[in-house]
Amino acid sequence: MKNIIVTGGAGFIGSHLCEKLLNEGNHVICLDNFFTGSRKNIEHLLDNKEFELIRHDIVEPILIEADEIYNLACPASPIHYQYNAIKTIKTNVLGVTNMLGLAKRAKAKILQASTSEVYGDPIVHPQREDYWGNVNCIGIRSCYDEGKRVAETLMMDYHRQHNVDIKIIRIFNTYGPRMAENDGRVVSNFIVQALKGQDITIYGDGSQTRSFCYVDDLVRGMTALMNKDGFVGPVNVGNDGEYTIKELAEMIIELTNSNSKIVYKPLPSDDPCKRRPDLTLARKELGYEPTVHVRDGLMKTIEYFKSTL
Ligand code: NAD
Ligand code: UDP
Repeated sequence: MKNIIVTGGAGFIGSHLCEKLLNEGNHVICLDNFFTGSRKNIEHLLDNKEFELIRHDIVEPILIEADEIYNLACPASPIHYQYNAIKTIKTNVLGVTNMLGLAKRAKAKILQASTSEVYGDPIVHPQREDYWGNVNCIGIRSCYDEGKRVAETLMMDYHRQHNVDIKIIRIFNTYGPRMAENDGRVVSNFIVQALKGQDITIYGDGSQTRSFCYVDDLVRGMTALMNKDGFVGPVNVGNDGEYTIKELAEMIIELTNSNSKIVYKPLPSDDPCKRRPDLTLARKELGYEPTVHVRDGLMKTIEYFKSTL
């Protein structure tokens, strides 16, 4: 049994990760400040004696012991990470430094949840890990994407300077049950709008692309990376099917049998035109393969929102 910290464990991805780690027989300590996460996401785990929940903000140091740390704490949706942009940067710089300090002292392995946003509005397509990205350091997304880039830098410097055992995963757009209804990301927005019969809001002309990964596939990739000795990454994990946002809207209207109409709203600034992971490295090093087709994953997510709305 390992003692594992999951920061951001009450969030969307974190709650699925806590569940998987408990099912595999570990002791899990969830640290969360409940900014975008909720107790509801982990309520079903609270009776498990191997699950500990600590309300904690990673911008403050904490002294606990652990064998492994998954650092997921950080708002992930543009509306949430822009709500208090300075706090988002602090979470990615001070928060990550605190977690690396903990890893160094406790001699724990640490995995950082990075993001495809480190590639910015990419000029190279699909994105491979050796592409350095095209990021605006003064734009409205920079608190998040530059924040995550510094987080990667800190991870590498603690590795080189203090020999901390680190792992960096670059997560591409992930969706599934327990996304918050008000999350603001495209999959949850479109499903909620379709189920409520509201207009589906496409930003821009809908020709921008994304690649959507079902949360179970992603979490499997995360634990595979943590368990792969001698491999640091960074490594892309996601699903390499690529869809325009208009195609996604049409698919969700069809799968929900909705009467909703598509409406077009202005494209937010610095919104990337295209994004698709090159998964060659994940396949080679982690034996990773996404298994859930987007239509199947969307159906599961639609069922979840039907039960919660
Ligand atoms: P989420 O917003 O549901 O979860 C983030 C969790 O972190 C929440 O529970 C929140 O309360 C907590 N948190 C935020 N700031 C904190 C702080 N300072 N201290 C303690 N807890 C804090 O988002 P998610 O989609 O589950 O994302 C999890 C991680 O994965 C994030 O680091 C995100 O950047 C990364 N990621 C997600 C996606 C995606 O598509 N979902 C893509 C790329 C990267
Ligand atoms: N988007 C949209 N309508 C919405 C929410 C998002 O058209 O109601 C677009 C958004 O502009 C972006 C894409 O969908 O081009 C994915 O947005 P999301 O916030 O989910 O992820 P990210 O932009 O961080 O990849």
